[in-house]
Amino acid sequence: MEALIAPEYEELRESVRALVEKKISPFAHDVDENARFPQEAYEALQSADMAAAHVPSEFGGQGADALAVAIIIEEVARGCASSSLIPAVNKLGSIPVILAGNLDQKEKYLRQLAEGKGFSYCLSESEAGSDAASMKTKAVRDGDGWILSGSKKWISNAGFSDFYTVLASTDSSLGAKGITAFIVEKSDPGVSFGAHEKKMGFRGSPTCEVYFDNVRIGEDRRLGEVGSGFALAMRTLDHTRITIAAQALGIAQGAFEAANAYAHERKQFGKAIFDFQGVQFMLADMAMQIAAARQLTYLAAVKSERSDDDLTFYSAACKCFASDVAMKVTTDAVQILGGYGYVSDFPVERMMRDAKLTQIYEGTNQIQRIVMARHLSDL
Ligand SMILES: Cc1cc2nc3c(=O)[nH]c(=O)nc-3n(C[C@H](O)[C@H](O)[C@H](O)COP(=O)(O)OP(=O)(O)OC[C@H]3O[C@@H](n4cnc5c(N)ncnc54)[C@H](O)[C@@H]3O)c2cc1C
Repeated sequence: MEALIAPEYEELRESVRALVEKKISPFAHDVDENARFPQEAYEALQSADMAAAHVPSEFGGQGADALAVAIIIEEVARGCASSSLIPAVNKLGSIPVILAGNLDQKEKYLRQLAEGKGFSYCLSESEAGSDAASMKTKAVRDGDGWILSGSKKWISNAGFSDFYTVLASTDSSLGAKGITAFIVEKSDPGVSFGAHEKKMGFRGSPTCEVYFDNVRIGEDRRLGEVGSGFALAMRTLDHTRITIAAQALGIAQGAFEAANAYAHERKQFGKAIFDFQGVQFMLADMAMQIAAARQLTYLAAVKSERSDDDLTFYSAACKCFASDVAMKVTTDAVQILGGYGYVSDFPVERMMRDAKLTQIYEGTNQIQRIVMARHLSDL
């Protein structure tokens, strides 16, 4: 890979890795064990301008391209997956503003995001997951504004984030073409949050329901045209599924390194377990799969930056492939550590639990395969 990407990306990787090893990884176990927000990671990322590095420089951000953001997320996830959701969710929540926001919206919201406010994304509902277009949350015109009512389920960093991109039905008779995107602020009267979900993994990242009880917002909060929200939501995922692939890649890399180190230290039958070919083959497969996932993810990131015609295929492909690799690699890492892999003294069981989510959110891997199948003619 080093030969294929420009040296500045490898320099970026080194600087993120140093930051993560010093200020994020040491807290990963505690964050998971106590299901607490990774405040240390948030502060470290924010002070290094990496919490929302994708924000264009004209709005106070770093203007990092999609590959640079992928590398930041990969390296954070290598140490602590929960912490890697800080930059990933900030990108997910704000890409709709970047793609469809007007200048005032960009100036107001992207600038505050760069300054440290969080931005979440509200698409899923309790009865509308894979079939997101069947959402029930409504926005009804009210004079010069809108009234939002309904609720969104599984919202990452809910309660922590100050801003929310919310998809709501503005004309249910039109189905997906009757959905519009809005920006909602945490402080808007009528916005509230449910209890934290008790999750298998990513336990440091708050996931809550968000309730909209007749939330009145002005026309200045509408993102893009009325009825264009679902297309915008899908276009957003084209860019952000790459960040989930990067996250999966980082989790897999962390698990591989832990398993490889352990295999060299652990002795059974009078020699290091690495000396058994059965273990070597597992590690070789893990490294091979990670290398392939990395190539696909970085290629998709380059396509995201250029908005290539085949981006939809590649973003679904890298998310699906890298998350399946993360699940396989972390499971094998647990296997290589034997009984020690099954307890929380070593990080691989956490990584295995974290990997599972990457196969589920931003569209399950079944949905990614549907997306890829629909876009085969783009190739
Ligand atoms: C921790 C966490 C964080 C999340 N964060 C966010 C967030 O920030 N914002 C947000 O909007 N959403 C978020 N989500 C929601 C996530 O994107 C959904 O959970 C996901 O899209 C799946 O929806 P569902 O859970 O309703 O499953 P369902 O859609 O009910 O799917 C159940 C099963 O059926 C399968 N299935 C469904 N339809 C088909 C089909 N047509 N063909 C084949 N198989 C199918 C699925 O693959 C899955 O295996 C998050 C979820 C979790 C768990």
